[in-house]
Formats: sequence, structure tokens, C-alpha cells
Amino acid sequence: MAYDLVVVGGGAGGTGAALTAARLGLRTLWLERESALGGTGVHSLVSVWQPAYTSSRLAAEIAERLLATDQAHFTAPRADTPSGRPIYRRDDAASYADTLQRWRDEGHTLLGPALTYDAGAMASLLEEMAAEEPCLTVRLGTVFLEALSEAGADGLRRLRAVRVAQDGEVEEVAGGHFIDATADLAVADSAGCQIRWGQEPRAAYGEPSAPEQPSLRLNGWTLCFECHEGPDRVDLPGEGSGPPADWAHISELPGGGYNVNMVYQLAGETGWRLGRELAREHLLRNIAGRWAGVRRAYGLEGYGITHLAPRIGVREGPRLVARYVLREQDFHRGDFGRHHPDCVAWTDHALDRHGPDGGCTEAANGPVGVPLRCLQPQEYDNLLVACRGAGFSSIAASAVRLQRTMMELGEAAARYITTGDVPVAQLPAQDRGARHA
Ligand SMILES: Cc1cc2nc3c(=O)[nH]c(=O)nc-3n(C[C@H](O)[C@H](O)[C@H](O)COP(=O)(O)OP(=O)(O)OC[C@H]3O[C@@H](n4cnc5c(N)ncnc54)[C@H](O)[C@@H]3O)c2cc1C
Repeated sequence: MAYDLVVVGGGAGGTGAALTAARLGLRTLWLERESALGGTGVHSLVSVWQPAYTSSRLAAEIAERLLATDQAHFTAPRADTPSGRPIYRRDDAASYADTLQRWRDEGHTLLGPALTYDAGAMASLLEEMAAEEPCLTVRLGTVFLEALSEAGADGLRRLRAVRVAQDGEVEEVAGGHFIDATADLAVADSAGCQIRWGQEPRAAYGEPSAPEQPSLRLNGWTLCFECHEGPDRVDLPGEGSGPPADWAHISELPGGGYNVNMVYQLAGETGWRLGRELAREHLLRNIAGRWAGVRRAYGLEGYGITHLAPRIGVREGPRLVARYVLREQDFHRGDFGRHHPDCVAWTDHALDRHGPDGGCTEAANGPVGVPLRCLQPQEYDNLLVACRGAGFSSIAASAVRLQRTMMELGEAAARYITTGDVPVAQLPAQDRGARHA
């Protein structure tokens, strides 16, 4: 059977794309190699939606459904820890609208509340939402292998099918349109699209903070975990390693216990060279070396690790050299992308780099809009990229990679394929845009 649309990747971008396309009536196939949907948010236990502007309708709907069953709640920073470092505790006074504002105050000192969810509940909800759509077929445990292309119109190429494997069986699946939501550009890479790794040299886009020479530096990797009252229930290596930084991003979970993100653990470029298996060993040693200090700093002495993320959290990988590449200057305009006519998603998250001190540095920037052209490969007319590997410079990628932004990109990609019109995203309230201008 040929599908109108094949979406590869079941993470945030894929969720936005597949559910939106199916709701708009496209016969959609949604492929995911894992046995559950949810991508990094679920399998890497990144179960927090940081405060940032988004007009994603699907994210609001998902939040509402999780909140209604107490499988998500709002969390806000509280500096009531022994070290004075903030911990994200349940905040029943917050609303979803509050999470759409990165800063609570004009001085940019107080972060807005986040939405923290149960990872397993998110995976179940996404399956439930997919099952509600008659036009949507989900295939879990299905690995994309290869893109099969042919000549298309106007000198561009077209994808005609993808080769996939499930339970050892390899088959070709034909489609009219394709969306690469694999985070690491499995489809676009296989299709021969131009891709870039690491930091671009300043000459590439004139970014003021870019290095003179290209560099392979990539944002850091992290192995997130959950902890509950009681002893550690996972085996950690006896020997710890790495700087003894006690910095972490810790959020109270809806069902009790905490989600722990040690923020920086391993340089991204080292992780890619080590491979995930060896990198995981390194990350476990890093946790072993730091967990006692983190516990003390955040007043979690009675807590033990109960669940390590099955997958390492990867912040940055290959990125598409798209028809437009979002760059640092787009943030410094600070006008929610009003200088581009085709913005399909917005964010005001910081440009951040996760560094060896265990923390993260945030560069001041204004809010930004993501043009549709960032999703469009230069080489294809029926392939869009809706994931963290879309057309962003390394600097820009650090701010736009958030789950709700990815979801909004997926929604936009599906709308564009369905109607052919650029689904220009709703602008945020005027006062917020003006404040950053
Ligand atoms: C440690 C860490 C902390 C973060 N903190 C936050 C935060 O607090 N808030 C926030 O909003 N964002 C945060 N982010 C960023 C955010 O989680 C990711 O950037 C975002 O989830 C990426 O979404 P995606 O759709 O691009 O990719 P993913 O969610 O990774 O989805 C890609 C999917 O494609 C599948 N796939 C890949 N290759 C294939 C293949 N060949 N065949 C079939 N399927 C395939 C994968 O299995 C995966 O499910 C964090 C990221 C990390 C790593």
C-alpha cells in the first residue's frame, strides 16, 4: 500500500507530524525503531518541557490530557536546597500558559515553570492518540534503512520509497511525501542531502560567536535518571570519574521521586567517536563520581537511583544544510522572526552550551521564528526534515531543539504537505515580542 505520507521517527517532531497529518486526512505511516513512541523525551528520560514560547496546539492538547490524569504537573524552581541551587518542585499555582514564558520577570532572573511528565505515561498517551486516528498506521520496532529516490520536477529529486526492517524482514514502503523526524537525519543523509556536523566557521553565515575555523564541537551528552526515597537500585561502577561538579537539573516527578539531568557529562564530539555503548560506560562512571555530591547539594540524601534512561540523551548531531539555515543573527533581531515571511514555529529559549564545569552557559538572545525553509532540503521536493537536525547552525540549534518546538515543526510540516500553503505560526502576544526587540 502506498501512503500519502511516511513519517520516520516517533519523537517530538514525528509526533507533531504524524498526528497532525492523520487528523488532516492524509493516509500516514508512522515508523519508529523503538518499541514505544516518544523519542528522547521518553527513552532518554528527558521528561521536562522547559519554559519557552510555543504556539504548538498539539503540545497544549498533550499537556491537558496528561494533567487531567495526574501524569504531568507543573514544576517551578525553588532555591530551598542546602546549596541554594534551584530544584524544580511541584507548583500547583502554575498554568500551562505560564510555561510559555521563559522568564517570569523583566530582569530575566526567575525562570518560568516547566511541565514535568511521567515518561511511560507519555508513551502510552501517544499510542492512544495515534489509535484515535483512522488515517494513521503506526509501526513500532521498525528501522529505517535506506531512502530510494528518483528524478523529480524542476531539477529536484523525489523520494519514492524507504526500505525498512521489522523483525528481520526487509521491505520497501512507497509514499507521496516523507518527513525525516529521526533527530540524526537518517533519511536525509541516506537520500544524499547536504549535511553538516559541528560548528560552522564564521565565514559560513557571519555569526559573531562562531569560531574562525570549523570545529567538531557538539553540545554535551547526558544520561538522565530517576530517583526515589531509598537505596540505589541500579549498579553503578565502583570508580567514579570526571570533575566532581554538583550541578544538576532536578525536577519532581508527578508520581513522586525526581528526574535528574546531570546537564553536562560528556562532550558531544567525544560521544559520537566513542559510540553509544562505550559512551554509556563513561556516563555511568560520571554519575558514580558525582551522585553523592549532587544528593548533598540538593538535599536528596535519602534518595537512590531507581531507573536509568535506556538511551543516552544527545543534544546535537548532524544538521541539514537546508534552503535557509537559522543562525545567530536571527536571534539578535529579537523580533520572533518577523523579518522572515515564512516562520512556522517560535521559541524564546536561550542559546546554550553544556560545558565541562557541569553546568550550562546561556547566551543572551531574543526570541526567534523558524522559517519553513529550515525544514526543506535543497535537493528534494517531497522530503521535509522536522527534528533537531533541521536547518539550524550549530549555535542556533542550541536554542531551537526543545521538544515543543520540534513538535510545532512537525505540525507545520504536515500542514504544508496537506495544503501547500505555508502555515505561518501564530505570533506571541505583542508585549512579549516588543520587550525583547
Ligand atoms: C539531556 C537533555 C536534556 C534536554 N532537556 C530538555 C528540556 O528540559 N526540555 C525540552 O523541551 N527539551 C530538552 N531537550 C531537547 C529535546 O529533548 C530534544 O532535542 C528533542 O526531544 C528532539 O526531538 P526530535 O523529534 O528531534 O528527536 P527524538 O525525540 O530523539 O526522536 C527521534 C526518533 O527517531 C527514531 N529513529 C532514529 N533513527 C531511526 C531509524 N533509522 N528508524 C526508525 N526510527 C528512528 C528514534 O528512535 C527516536 O524515537 C534535552 C535534550 C537532552 C539530550
